[in-house]
Amino acid sequence: MNQNTNHDVWYSEYLVEGNAKVSLKLSKILHCEKTDFQELRIFENEEFGKFMVLDGYIQITEKDEFIYHEMISHPAMAVNPDVKKVLIIGGGDGGTAREISRYKSIERIDMVEIDEGVVNACKKYIPQTSAVFSNEPRLNLIIGDGLKFVENAPDAAYDLILVDSTDPEGPGEDLFTVDFYRNCFRALSENGILINQHEGAFFSGDALQMQKAHKKIKEVFPVAKVYGFNIPTYASGYWYFGFASKKYDPLNDLQAEKWNSIGLETKYYNTELHKGAFALPNYVKKILEEA
Ligand code: SAM
Repeated sequence: MNQNTNHDVWYSEYLVEGNAKVSLKLSKILHCEKTDFQELRIFENEEFGKFMVLDGYIQITEKDEFIYHEMISHPAMAVNPDVKKVLIIGGGDGGTAREISRYKSIERIDMVEIDEGVVNACKKYIPQTSAVFSNEPRLNLIIGDGLKFVENAPDAAYDLILVDSTDPEGPGEDLFTVDFYRNCFRALSENGILINQHEGAFFSGDALQMQKAHKKIKEVFPVAKVYGFNIPTYASGYWYFGFASKKYDPLNDLQAEKWNSIGLETKYYNTELHKGAFALPNYVKKILEEA
């Protein structure tokens, strides 16, 4: 067991203002940059590997990013395996693009990331998620604002939109607006599914963001559900995605057999867990019902 020593350096993320935090001891400080949009840090920790922090919030770690990127990608594909055209908004580390590009049936992946600094830093320090930028011919990376991109996107241009955004502060704020959701709805085909980073429920600040997002999505999409997943380095260790669609229900329309026949090897997602992920704790159901 490592003894704590005075010269240890730790990164801490406040879970709530000043009263609780999660800390990772740093074995390396790899990159510190103030980009045009946010404070970008890349550190290394002996347990979690290299990890990226944006404006004080852990975004990915080498050890647990597979959970987030499997859970943003596979539930929608298990409901509609015929997805051909995908739009990723955010996701500058490349993990979502890497995971969704495992489906050879997908023809095109447009990805709109506002901060080129994130892409460049992850290309340099976190090839585990960013190698996709150099080895995926279907991936079309656009540096720009996702809000403006969907405003100008043609009707029914995409079958799946994955909003892999930061929290609704700073550049990510625009990606939690009714306008944004309305433009996503218009840019989706009639089989369209929207998956969005839907915040947490345990701490009140996160729960309020979840509730506000859900209220807006419900205004726009006929089907608006939420599903959860365990992610050790996110506040409270449990986080949520939104599943919104024009017609598909994530449970009634789950095509488990078809998805399993694709034969993708995953470390977290499976079609049994898919069903469980949409079963929510009572306090989370209450937050959403009150939205
Ligand atoms: N994929 C990571 C994970 O596992 O949680 C975290 C999300 S990713 C790092 C969030 C990205 O959203 C950031 O790179 C940020 O620059 C980007 N972003 C924030 N606002 C945006 C906007 N309006 N348009 C496009 N990208 C945006």
